[in-house]
Amino acid sequence: MKTEFIKADISKPLDDQLTPAAEILKRGGLVAFPTETVYGLGACALDSDAAKKIYAAKGRPSDNPLIIHISRPEDAEKYCFTNETFYKLSSAFMPGPITVIMPKKPIIPDAVTGGLDTVAVRIPSDKVANKLIELCGFPIAAPSANISGKPSPTDADAVMRDMNGRIDMVIDGGECNIGVESTIVKPISDGVKLLRPGGITVGMLEAVVGKVEIDPVITEKPTDDRKPEAPGMKYRHYAPIAKMTLICGDGKDFFERAAEFINKKISENENTGVLCSDEAAAKIKGKYVVSLGAGNDPAMHAHRLFKALRNFDDMPVDRIYAISDGKDEVELAVYNRMIKAAGYDIISI
Ligand code: AMP
Ligand code: MG
Repeated sequence: MKTEFIKADISKPLDDQLTPAAEILKRGGLVAFPTETVYGLGACALDSDAAKKIYAAKGRPSDNPLIIHISRPEDAEKYCFTNETFYKLSSAFMPGPITVIMPKKPIIPDAVTGGLDTVAVRIPSDKVANKLIELCGFPIAAPSANISGKPSPTDADAVMRDMNGRIDMVIDGGECNIGVESTIVKPISDGVKLLRPGGITVGMLEAVVGKVEIDPVITEKPTDDRKPEAPGMKYRHYAPIAKMTLICGDGKDFFERAAEFINKKISENENTGVLCSDEAAAKIKGKYVVSLGAGNDPAMHAHRLFKALRNFDDMPVDRIYAISDGKDEVELAVYNRMIKAAGYDIISI
């Protein structure tokens, strides 16, 4: 299949630019498009056959459900049974990087929800994504536009690397602003359960819904007794080709200790990659150090994370050490992706 590549220019009217993409989606094809979180791989969410093509293009397990993307909160009613919590969340955070799990209506096919009786709903704030949904007139089912298991793409080049020849079109809308996937929540009686951390943080959620219960698999490896409620959280994900280990710890001299540990590893093997913030990077004596930005800029860490993980695949590294910057607020989203990228190989020092 030939994959068409178009650039969207948000300084000009988008309707004409995006009409060909909407036409592809209307006839059951696949289009990758930018969102504020990561690039999505879209198909019509009301068309079972179209949704199945997403699973085939990504090599995604069929029990891992898709998020449906709508353009306005009032459309949610057509596809799921909404409640008060949904509207509290939508007034506070939508459009934006949050996904809410709600009981589904029959119009959403089982192929989209992996057979679950719930559906994940999100309203992207990205202008291209929002306009594309509006032009289609139906919800767009879209997981991240990467081959399953790889880091999610945050620019159109990364999408092309994974999806060229597998899908009908890629829309280039520049770099994704946030850089990690949406926060996923499920309403519970007195608040929400957090199923995946993202740009909307625990503190932001607490301010709007009260209680936030955190799914333990966000910070710990899933086991038979500890199964994630978001099926996708159980799969290996974000993994660079080289094996990665995450270094955790605290205290004032943590970066010092982490750097000492890693510098020793580098002296034994110079093809060692290091992923950390600027402060730690200054102490590392290696050739393949990738910084996520200043230590006090967690939003930048999220923004750069997936590109940094993909960068290692282009370097002659056969081992990677990453240094954790903590688990507070946005950093929880970064930590969650890092432990998965490391296959839960974590060293506390
Ligand atoms: P991605 O589209 O790659 O960001 O992945 C979507 C995530 O949403 C996966 O972790 C899914 O398991 C999760 N998800 C989608 N639908 C549901 C649902 N109905 N219930 C729980 N998790 C869901
Ligand atoms: Mg994904």
